[in-house]
Amino acid sequence: MRVAIVGGGAAGMTAAHLLDKVHDVSVFEKEPVLGGNIRTLNKNIPCDSLNQRITLDNGVIEFQRDYFTNFHKLMADLQIQLVETPVSSELFLPDGHYYKSTGAIRYGCKTKWEQIIEMLKQTPIMFSYLCFLARISLASQDSFRHRPVSDYLGNNISARWLKMLLMYAYSMPYNTIDNFPAEIALPLLSHSGMLTQWDRIVGGVYSYIEKILSRFRGTIHCDTRITGITRESTGVQISLVNTDPQHFDKLVFATTPDQVLRLLKDPSENEIRRFQAWKMNTIDTLIHTDTSIYKHFGVSYFCEFDLFQTKELGDSGYNAYLDRLCGVDPQLDTHFSLAYNLEQQIAPEKVIDRQHHATPAYNVEAIRYRQEVLETNGENHTYHAGAYLFDGLHEGAVSSGFVVSDLLGGLRL
Ligand SMILES: Cc1cc2nc3c(=O)[nH]c(=O)nc-3n(C[C@H](O)[C@H](O)[C@H](O)COP(=O)(O)OP(=O)(O)OC[C@H]3O[C@@H](n4cnc5c(N)ncnc54)[C@H](O)[C@@H]3O)c2cc1C
Repeated sequence: MRVAIVGGGAAGMTAAHLLDKVHDVSVFEKEPVLGGNIRTLNKNIPCDSLNQRITLDNGVIEFQRDYFTNFHKLMADLQIQLVETPVSSELFLPDGHYYKSTGAIRYGCKTKWEQIIEMLKQTPIMFSYLCFLARISLASQDSFRHRPVSDYLGNNISARWLKMLLMYAYSMPYNTIDNFPAEIALPLLSHSGMLTQWDRIVGGVYSYIEKILSRFRGTIHCDTRITGITRESTGVQISLVNTDPQHFDKLVFATTPDQVLRLLKDPSENEIRRFQAWKMNTIDTLIHTDTSIYKHFGVSYFCEFDLFQTKELGDSGYNAYLDRLCGVDPQLDTHFSLAYNLEQQIAPEKVIDRQHHATPAYNVEAIRYRQEVLETNGENHTYHAGAYLFDGLHEGAVSSGFVVSDLLGGLRL
């Protein structure tokens, strides 16, 4: 069977890897490189100004050990080395106050006295967080459907901290988080506490895409422009700029969901209903070496999930300290970070790389028909994969590739 996969991110490449064992697979990616939101400097992203022995991720970085089951199955199949990485968080407010997570207190406080002060500051936040956890653990998963996060999170400091973690996890502007779907957010928040273990991929996240490519027998088309896709009784026709249309038996959409109606020339009424509310969200992330953002707070331990409220109750951004997350040799005495929405605070000469990302714009309306998309996967010779169909993270992307592979008789891990 000839299978076309449109989109070469994590979902598309997982599906390609599993289907390649039994079908003739072609991947069509619009960018010059594969990976989607996987952007590993010195791998799929060249970076002359960075020591060539260092790999830094300016996109997807970390993976939950206990909750990313399919992701870990894929990594085991590809024999990719993962190591646990300590992860902690701090919340910085515009008035100069800051709060440390338990991990940040454990690793970042120099004296017992400092630890006690930080724990006392943290206690009311922790109490409020535990009340939130108790509340959502008593509710059924189904009751979260079609409801926004604001139904569960108010505006106290603990709630704002959690909303900023959602901003970080889903690359969505802070001012949109109140309308973020509770059914995606609450499971993540309930299992991302102080006991959660996180893994990173040795050598950078793109290493696993390289491994897929080393085993791949199909065809990869990067930098392609699809002008339209039509479905026929015998399969699917893909029209491309500067080449003849190509015929396939099956089509897998592994793009962001806003692209489905943009590319389909013959969408059914059902497809229009399922995809019309999806829009694209775009963000820029910077890799930089500027630590002056912490000076104002007198903090010298930098965390993986550092969250900055930049205006009183308003906008926010994050700074993810990368040295531990990307396994940079401590002997090199570097301070690399990945920042979002902190451009005003970062000196331009300290910026090493900038990446532009497109992600699904998550809101309650957009995901209304998500279950229906999964239930009708395969209708009109057309399948759908993408993180947005599950948890919105890497586990979701890989899981969606597993589902499509199962439906098309591909390899099962
Ligand atoms: C900055 C950032 C950091 C993140 N960090 C993490 C993390 O640490 N851990 C985690 O679990 N998740 C993280 N995520 C979430 C991440 O989005 C998912 O983990 C996952 O990579 C999404 O994969 P995907 O294949 O669903 O989508 P994408 O990665 O968006 O892939 C879609 C692909 O389709 C291509 N495409 C789009 N339109 C077309 C078209 N018309 N024709 C052809 N190709 C097209 C795109 O170029 C892209 O390659 C992060 C996301 C971002 C943006």
